[in-house]
Amino acid sequence: MYPNWILQRAYLTPLRCALTYEGQTWTFQELNELSMKRARQLTALGVKQKDRIAIMGPSTSGLIVMIYACMHLQCEMVMLNRRLSKSEIAYQLEDSQAVTVIVADEDAKKLPTNSLAHHLFSAVEQSSEQAVDVAKEWSIAQTTSIMYTSGTTGFPKGVRQTVGNHQASATSSVLNLGLQADDTWLCAVPLFHISGFSILVRSLLYGNKVQLYEHFDVDTIAPNIIDGSATYMSVVAVTLERILSALEQRSAQASPHFKMILAGGGPVPMDYLKRARALHLAVAQTYGMTETSSQTATLASEDALHKIGSAGKPLFFNQIKILEPNAQGEGEICIRGPHVTPGYIGRFAQKSSTIEGWLHTGDVGYIDEDGYLYVVDRRADLIISGGENIYPAEIENVLLAHSAVKEAGVCGIDHERWGQVPIAFVVLKQQVSIEQLLAFCQINLAKYKIPKEIIVIDELPRNGAKKLLRRKLAELLPQERSLH
Ligand code: ATP
Ligand code: MG
Repeated sequence: MYPNWILQRAYLTPLRCALTYEGQTWTFQELNELSMKRARQLTALGVKQKDRIAIMGPSTSGLIVMIYACMHLQCEMVMLNRRLSKSEIAYQLEDSQAVTVIVADEDAKKLPTNSLAHHLFSAVEQSSEQAVDVAKEWSIAQTTSIMYTSGTTGFPKGVRQTVGNHQASATSSVLNLGLQADDTWLCAVPLFHISGFSILVRSLLYGNKVQLYEHFDVDTIAPNIIDGSATYMSVVAVTLERILSALEQRSAQASPHFKMILAGGGPVPMDYLKRARALHLAVAQTYGMTETSSQTATLASEDALHKIGSAGKPLFFNQIKILEPNAQGEGEICIRGPHVTPGYIGRFAQKSSTIEGWLHTGDVGYIDEDGYLYVVDRRADLIISGGENIYPAEIENVLLAHSAVKEAGVCGIDHERWGQVPIAFVVLKQQVSIEQLLAFCQINLAKYKIPKEIIVIDELPRNGAKKLLRRKLAELLPQERSLH
């Protein structure tokens, strides 16, 4: 058993600043008192301890209070992604069998019409209170949150994340990155996603401040990096690029107080890492997934320069191995450790998340001679062309290194002669001809990896986590098109 994180933090450092949002601040004691009140209000409305409930809202202080209230009640929180469509939300509600939804007022319209009973945030906030005996201790196996995977490769899977998973993840993160009481972690990633939720867990465990933003607005956020009012920040590749552009445009550099950008959720193009280096902005590339409650491997900052592109080494409590490596040492990445989920819920409940304790990630990678992990790509996106393996990420990285290319996505399409061939979609930031882009590919890629076509589009298909949906790329091609 472990102490309830919120009670324990409020007991240890009651007056320390826990959260800033829209010019307001809260200490840990205030957050605890507010969330205890909210827990009593939820109880008055019929929410029972240990109920499986769904929760949805924008990243505001109100959402954090509601999350902490549900944690006090030891509810299993299904963290609904508010960017999903109604039918996707309906799927998760049905799959998870949540007994009720606690929803921010502005998100009520996103619920499916035949949805189960719900409680608006405003109704909870105005409700009377009913006394409840909040558990002072939590068991390690208790499910804190249930998050659906991004659904990049298929149906989203509901992942159980336990007290033990979150604690192990937060502890191994600090053993690697370090964190001090006066650090501030800027959070502009969604709280329903493990990247955002893990910022809250770390804040409770370490006692540091969270600087919360509802949206990623680069003009608001870049100044915090330049003036050092934030010291850590989590990003995905797309938002990292916006920060880099903002600093470049302002000819500004990160404050010496700013410590680290943690970049995860997907591969970070090499070009971004080089630009960050030129700006003296420390970027730690990290590899993790919903099933590992955030980071599993992270590249330490001192290694960032000579291991550029690597996701680093496993964090202290976990191990990584490559299953059945080929001649180049590439194979499926498997992970073992206390942060790995005990399993899925709903339609994937029967699918064991591990085999002999190892999580099979579906990602392809290799470990170099010094023990550094390189994530190559998703196994499902592998293009096999004339018997050669092609990973879309490699081609995307080349295209992104071209000064006119802002975003790139590559997928395979069927081809009479080669089985499959790669094609590329690009979003441009400057005018450039397809011939010039192809010539650039010819310099940097083996012949069979050169995209058979490069198509300019305005926007790449991305999911709620801003991840590129390569399986949707081929659908952008006109139907009648066939390649020879
Ligand atoms: P689904 O499992 O439903 O297809 P998903 O795998 O995208 O969706 P998440 O758990 O949000 O859902 O994402 C984890 C995945 O993101 C990893 O398995 C990996 O493919 C990718 N990823 C995360 N970090 C990195 C990284 N540093 N480099 C490359 N890929 C990464
Ligand atoms: Mg996955």
